[in-house]
Amino acid sequence: MFVGVAVYSRNRKDIINKVWSAVCFSVSLWCLFYFLTINAETKNSAVFLIKIANLFGVLVFVFWLYFVAVFLNIQKDKKFKLFYGLMIAFSIAVSYLILSPWFMKDIVPTYVFNYYLIPGFGYFVYAIYFLFATTGGLLFLFSHRKQFTGIKAGQFNFITFGSLIGFIGGGVAFLPSFGIYFPVYLLILFTTFPIIIAYGITKYNLFNIRVIATEAFIVAIWILLIYRSIVSYSSYQDFFINIGSLILIVAVGILLMRSVMREVEQREKIEKIEKDIEKAYEAEKLAKEKIDAIRVEDEALLSSIGEGVVAIDREGKVTFINRAAEQMLYLKSEEAVGRSYQEILKMETEKGEAVLKEKDPLNLALSSGKKVVTAVAEGTADIIYFYVRKDGTKFPSAITVAPVILNGKTIGAVDVFRDITVERQIDKSKTEFVSLASHQLRTPLSAIKWYAEIIMTGKAGKITKKQKEYLKKLYNGNERMIKLINVMLNISRLEAGKVKITLAPLSIKELLENIIAEQQVDIKKKKHKFTFECPNDLPKITTDSELIRMVFQNLISNAIKYTQDKGKIDCKVEKKDNSILFSVHDNGIGIPEDQQKKIFGKLFRADNAFSHDPQGNGLGLYAAKMTIENLGGKTWFESKADKGTTFYVELPVG
Ligand code: ADP
Repeated sequence: MFVGVAVYSRNRKDIINKVWSAVCFSVSLWCLFYFLTINAETKNSAVFLIKIANLFGVLVFVFWLYFVAVFLNIQKDKKFKLFYGLMIAFSIAVSYLILSPWFMKDIVPTYVFNYYLIPGFGYFVYAIYFLFATTGGLLFLFSHRKQFTGIKAGQFNFITFGSLIGFIGGGVAFLPSFGIYFPVYLLILFTTFPIIIAYGITKYNLFNIRVIATEAFIVAIWILLIYRSIVSYSSYQDFFINIGSLILIVAVGILLMRSVMREVEQREKIEKIEKDIEKAYEAEKLAKEKIDAIRVEDEALLSSIGEGVVAIDREGKVTFINRAAEQMLYLKSEEAVGRSYQEILKMETEKGEAVLKEKDPLNLALSSGKKVVTAVAEGTADIIYFYVRKDGTKFPSAITVAPVILNGKTIGAVDVFRDITVERQIDKSKTEFVSLASHQLRTPLSAIKWYAEIIMTGKAGKITKKQKEYLKKLYNGNERMIKLINVMLNISRLEAGKVKITLAPLSIKELLENIIAEQQVDIKKKKHKFTFECPNDLPKITTDSELIRMVFQNLISNAIKYTQDKGKIDCKVEKKDNSILFSVHDNGIGIPEDQQKKIFGKLFRADNAFSHDPQGNGLGLYAAKMTIENLGGKTWFESKADKGTTFYVELPVG
């Protein structure tokens, strides 16, 4: 009984504690009434007591079976539900039989007992019920044995062992009724079974045995003292002393129980903390191992790739350099790591000039937090940087610098670069080939032009109208081809750095008037409104007139070409401090925003341009930009799709 209270009080909410307490209560009440029966004074009371005892016996099974189910966590299983339902029905039937006259034939003094029953039909059924319930419960336990490990396996062993002992002990109570004398003291075993199980479960952490033991000990002393103070005293003085010491012991007992409980609670807390720390430590160890594995993997990966990789921290100190970078820069990782990147990754232009800090890709990536790419911008004439090796030699490289960003802050950068010497050589031979081919094509095309002109003018004999018309088409096609060849030749020369720049003072106004006059046919054909504005006192500029003519021609003809009929084109020249600014504005088809970045790229044409005018090669602007830059100027544009475009060219006066 006490075990039941103790276990229940440890954790009122836990279902397993509740059911277990119910088992303990019914066992104790069964025992109590059984012992009262065998020690009964009268036959009538014995009859009454034995029935009560056996009713509690039935309850033992009702609760014990449910306890087994809760422990095995099978209370919701169909199989168990069916079995338990049948057993409940059986329990009700047996309880009815216990109360009926068929339960026993008689109750008489047997052996050493005052009374013991002589079984009737009901008692046999009761015995069968006992066998059914115990074997059923034990079978459930055994069939789940394998699923338990660790603490649960320990609890399992105690429950099974305790139940077996208990029911063997309980079973002997039947024997005297069937004429077998047996030391019924074995019944004690029955009462021990809740204790054994409670101990077992406690040992494996479910209830706490230290608290239970302390409580048991203290309550035992209380009962002894109560008994002594009420029953055995010889004087009032004695009585008061007993009562006094009882109160004292109760108080001390409560304090003791509390302190034990607190200590146990603290120990549990410490144990929990210990476990948590252990878990955290394990998790940290695992995470560390994982990070190490990832690092080793990354390092292996970075070491094995062909590109040079150099990582720097926020201060620009080198933190990592891979094998390819070591080989390219003639460096060892040990001498590079920890030093400033400017000492390791010295950078120059092709002409041997140092790269300005504001153009240095690593510095740019660190300060802007954005990716910086050089030498690969889709065919544009990008500046190529050279990395200088330890021995002073240098190589051109395509560089990509990505900032390393953590929580929105740039904490370093990774520079991935590649030696593009070979690519540049191939490019150079390609350019040379195009240059040669274009040059060779020019002569036959000029011959075609010349002869076509002769035939068209009728100098070689009379031709029909139809023939003249076809010849005109031939002539125009040939003209386009010559233009294309000229552009290609120009580009290949510009790319190879072989353009001959002939500088001479030039009047921009005159040049532009000339170009506009040439374009009049097209302007008229498209019915554009064309304006030209230029100050009269514009100084002459020193530049290459042929090159600059090609640029303006291209920009103005583009404005005419990419504007719908009856458009408006404004061409303007302004004087600035040390430069002049040319602009040509149109209200044409514009350049879609997503394609504006690529507009100066080689062979690039915007989608809308292609559908507006299929003829075009996407080389004009590429050549224009390169030319302007070669002449020390700048070019850019502003555009909005379907609204219009303005191209600007700024040229130095000197
Ligand atoms: P092409 O005119 O032969 O296509 P360009 O190099 O001169 O080649 O021009 C490249 C592209 O730039 C054009 O295809 C067109 O998409 C765009 N572009 C140039 N000028 C204009 C303009 N004034 N209005 C709209 N788009 C333009």
